[in-house]
Amino acid sequence: MTTIYLKPKKEESLKRYHPWVFSGAIARVVLDAKHEGDAPEEGELVCVRSAANEVLGVGHWQIGSIAVRILAFGAEALPNGFWKERIQAAYQVREAIGLIRPENDTYRLVHGEGDWLPGLIVDVYADTAVVQAHSVGMHECRKEIAEAIVAVVPQVQNIYYKSDDTLPFKAEISEPKVGYLIQNSKNCEEFWSTENGLAFRIDWLKGQKTGFFVDQRENRALVERYAKDKDVLNMFCYTGGFSLYALRGGAKRVDSVDVSQKAIDLVNINVAKNFPVATNHTAVAADAFEYLSKQKAEGKTYDLIILDPPAFAKHRDAVKNALRGYQRINAKAIEMIRKGGILFTFSCSQAVDKEAFRLAVFSAAAQVGRKVRILHQLHQPQDHPINIYHPEGEYLKGLVLYIE
Ligand code: SAH
Repeated sequence: MTTIYLKPKKEESLKRYHPWVFSGAIARVVLDAKHEGDAPEEGELVCVRSAANEVLGVGHWQIGSIAVRILAFGAEALPNGFWKERIQAAYQVREAIGLIRPENDTYRLVHGEGDWLPGLIVDVYADTAVVQAHSVGMHECRKEIAEAIVAVVPQVQNIYYKSDDTLPFKAEISEPKVGYLIQNSKNCEEFWSTENGLAFRIDWLKGQKTGFFVDQRENRALVERYAKDKDVLNMFCYTGGFSLYALRGGAKRVDSVDVSQKAIDLVNINVAKNFPVATNHTAVAADAFEYLSKQKAEGKTYDLIILDPPAFAKHRDAVKNALRGYQRINAKAIEMIRKGGILFTFSCSQAVDKEAFRLAVFSAAAQVGRKVRILHQLHQPQDHPINIYHPEGEYLKGLVLYIE
């Protein structure tokens, strides 16, 4: 195996279980004897050693500023049965905390670095797991990963692989990047999954991400608690997660808005399935900023608004603009909230930290001149764990505000 030697003192973060080796920390690369070319190949397994020749771990080589993502600390090679053991460990956590139940068969099984599997995401929808690789190394291991999931998770029959949008775009990668890796049950055309007793149509073939936003489950449940008799706006609704919980919580009316017509079609399907006689829900395909301006011009107000926009900052250099975007959209929402109303506002941009997001919302409140108090500070749920040594794993944050 190729060996990566680090510069002196660069081993410290690895000894603390931070799983990334940055290219700047590397002193030299010793290719294994049968290697062609003059550098490791993207996705290749490499062994990382300190300047003093201690074994630090084994991981996948990447091209870019993160050069290695460690899979096994303190090991020279991946142990036999590695994938099964890791998937088992991830499954056990979800089982132990009571997440997997007949009324909740929608959950994240593997959350990358948070489950000691950097570059790998697995979401489970009833009997299908959707696997997403974010690194060439994980892509190359997809078949072993699929087999391990089916062996470990009793409910899972099918593995769908969906990495067309997540693999490094410059890399030369073996095809296919999408499609079934394992398919034992046939019904994959019209697929339903259950979250806290609510049915959701999941479209992993054409939908965003793995087909659903699993990370808002706990925050949706909080909306349900506050929705009774409220006029609710679910902005950036996607498949209507927050809308269904608000309806179950007894909302007077719910308006769901998303720029994507496909998303709006799914919201309507989901509402019809769970609340077949509901007449108090409307779904509209519209741009958020335009919708809020138009509603405001017509004098419309709400008791409860949910703002769950897409990541405004995908990279560090986009943070400034993103913060302006958060301020603008939050100001528009706060303006439209009745006295004594509530705003649920989120950011899923990893590059925008809690403090920066809170400051953007503070600026929005100050701009509009309303009295605003924080009732809850929200974050990603328990099936999106954060390795305490890898704070980069924290990405979802939210505030629940009481607006006077
Ligand atoms: N709240 C959702 C997830 C939201 S993801 C849930 O609980 O599942 C972000 C959504 O914002 C996507 O569905 C995307 O289509 C939508 N979106 C992106 N830009 C938008 C815009 N300018 N106006 C309205 N919706 C937008």
